[in-house]
Formats: sequence, structure tokens, C-alpha cells
Amino acid sequence: MINLDLQGRRALVTGGSGGLGRAIAETLAAAGAQVAVHYRKGLDEAEAVVAAIQKLGGRAQAFQADVSDPAAVEKLLQEIESAFGGLDILVNNAGMDGPRASVSEDDPQVWEKVLAVDLMGPYYCARAAIPRMEKAKRGVIINITSVHEFIPWEGYSAYTSAKAGLSMFTKTLAQETADKGIRVVAIAPGAIQTPINQSVWADPQSLKDLDEKISMGRLGRPEEIGNVVAFLASDLASYITGTTLAVDGGMLIYPEFRHGG
Ligand code: NAD
Repeated sequence: MINLDLQGRRALVTGGSGGLGRAIAETLAAAGAQVAVHYRKGLDEAEAVVAAIQKLGGRAQAFQADVSDPAAVEKLLQEIESAFGGLDILVNNAGMDGPRASVSEDDPQVWEKVLAVDLMGPYYCARAAIPRMEKAKRGVIINITSVHEFIPWEGYSAYTSAKAGLSMFTKTLAQETADKGIRVVAIAPGAIQTPINQSVWADPQSLKDLDEKISMGRLGRPEEIGNVVAFLASDLASYITGTTLAVDGGMLIYPEFRHGG
């Protein structure tokens, strides 16, 4: 019997009020977890996710914080502990790609902001979660990186650097915590249809160009990431730590070689 049951597990999904985070929060709740739906701005959207989860009989609550602010993150973890009594699953999903600009034209403050959200944010959240997970001798941290932890992307050097950094952070943290009952893994999504890439999928020519970069020839759906998060968070994945799983429809396998080299 396959057991994906997350009953009794308490999860935090950062950036859980929309996009991939919403699908991840809903999937974890459907698997039985109690979910902290974190948002930075937009209580209404977070409350809509909570309501959708509760409508299906799940348990969820909305929490606000800026993940790039360490004091706000510590307060967030305290609030979740008071409300849920602990934390078993942390999904570091909140992120931004920032505006497109070459390195010589980039605004260093914007570069720093992307690093602060995409790399420092997961670090602050993990840092606050680990002592709590250690006490319980169990925990799973899932970092949402990107295929851009592997693929360079012109104009997005802060994003690619942050995601590659988050990948190595995943491995190092996994090594540090493996004997404490904590697993740390990363998921590298390919192109998944969410607000972050709306300018691409809303334009037919850009969408066609993007589809050609994907072996399966289509964008992914948010629930296709949510399902993998639920699996990695569950005991079915009990021997997986310190690695990145690409969920990308075959973007990383050189789709341009489909029709000969
Ligand atoms: P999105 O823009 O819909 O969601 C990003 C979330 O991060 C939002 O909820 C936003 O409020 C939150 N956020 C941004 N800055 C924050 C801050 N300072 N503090 C707290 N929260 C903050 O995009 P998405 O596609 O759902 O992306 C989710 C994650 O998946 C990101 O880390 C992104 O890099 C990654 N990703 C997405 C794709 C894709 O194709 N959609 C591909 C690869 C990786």
C-alpha cells in the first residue's frame, strides 16, 4: 500500500497565496497536512487559498511576512509555532526574477533585492525552522529553485546566481542535518504557467518560442509541481536528501536535439 499521507504534519509554504505556492499549499492540504499559507502582500488572495482548502475539509491559516527580513521571518515561525505547535515541512517557494537587464546596466540594488528574496529568504526560513525540526527529530525542507540553477539566462544574472546558490545551499544544509532526521531537497521547475511568466504565455509568438525549448512541447501546470512537493515531503521519499529534482517536461535534456544533432 502506497502511503502519501501527511496527516499530523504542519507545513509552511512561502509565497503560498498564488502561482506555484497556491498549488503547493492546496496539494499538501489535500494530502492531510495543516498548512501555513504565507503571503507578503494581499491578505485577500491568501484568505482565498485558506478558504479553498477549508472547503475541501483541509486545515490552513494565512500568515504575513517579508522573507528577506530575518526578524520578520523569526516572528513568522513563532506565530506558526503558537498556532500549529510546530513545523514539519518548510517549502521555500517565494521568489522573484526581477527586471531584465545586462550586468553592466543592472541596478545593484535590484540585484541585491533578488538575492535577498531568492537566496537569503530560504536561508532565514531554514535557519528559523531547523532548531524546531531538530527538537522533533523530523523535518523536510523543500527549496524551489529553477531550471536556471543549471541554464544561464541572459539579463537575469541575479536570478540565475540566486537559484544556483540555493541549489548548493540545499546540498550543504542536507549534509549538515542528515543525521538529525531532517531532509533537504530542491525542485527545479521548468516553465510553469503562473503570473511570474504571464508576459511570455500571454503572447502567442513568445509562447511558441518557449514551447520549442521544452521536450514535451508545453508549459507545466502548477499542480504538477504541487504533486512532486507532496511526494518529497512524504515518507515515500524517506531516502532522498541533498539533491535537485527537475520537473521541467524535459527542458534540461537538450530538446533541440530531438530532430537530429
Ligand atoms: P509568482 O510571482 O506567482 O509567486 C512568487 C511569490 O513570491 C508571490 O506570492 C510573492 O508574493 C512572493 N514573494 C516575492 N517577494 C517576496 C518577499 N520579499 N517576501 C515574501 N514573499 C515574496 O511566481 P511563481 O511562478 O508561483 O514562482 C514561485 C517560485 O517558483 C519562485 O521561487 C520562482 O522563482 C520559482 N519558479 C517558477 C517557475 C515558473 O515557470 N513559474 C519556474 C522556475 C522556478
